[in-house]
Amino acid sequence: MVEVFSVLWTVIPQSAPQPTMNCRRCGAARPFRSSGKFRVNANGKQVDAWLIYKCTTCDDTWNRPVLERRSVDGIDPCLLEALHRNDPALADRLAGDIGDLRGGAAAASAAVAVRKEVLCEAPLSAPWLSVRLAVPQPVTLRLDRLLAGELGLSRKRLQALQESGRLDTAPNGPRMLRRPLRDGTCVTLELARECDGATICAAAGDLA
Ligand SMILES: [Zn+2]
Repeated sequence: MVEVFSVLWTVIPQSAPQPTMNCRRCGAARPFRSSGKFRVNANGKQVDAWLIYKCTTCDDTWNRPVLERRSVDGIDPCLLEALHRNDPALADRLAGDIGDLRGGAAAASAAVAVRKEVLCEAPLSAPWLSVRLAVPQPVTLRLDRLLAGELGLSRKRLQALQESGRLDTAPNGPRMLRRPLRDGTCVTLELARECDGATICAAAGDLA
């Protein structure tokens, strides 16, 4: 039987993404954070709403569209009411949604907390390590950066392991390594030839 040291990592964003955008007042690219407040404009029967972001350096504002020229009749009254009273749960949910943060806003912050569980009681000297990812909310952190930070390996070494066929990502294959984390991704590492395999497994299971 091939021994596999198998772990599950649950990755939770520690703070809402802070999109980097050109700040007019600073005259430079700056991270913007959600203020948790909305601006709602009702013009006759049309409603616009934005989530207000602030430059982390100078507090200049950027309005992220939430509703654009929507007919008031087509909006859930609960949503409208939540926007008017700056509902914290709604603001958190929208700030955590990176779906429409494109273009200049794409480079969001990526601070995460990782909860590690050992799924299989194989010895730390097992020749294989399997890391399964649970990512319940979208995060912008790249897989290679997560693995490097959590396993104590350089990204160059991860790249070399992948090129020699000793690091595999499933589903979606090798290109996943440089992409943001996805729920359900499984990373398999062959450690038989690595002299520090036991240290890597201990880091993977938070047993160090
Ligand atoms: Zn600024």
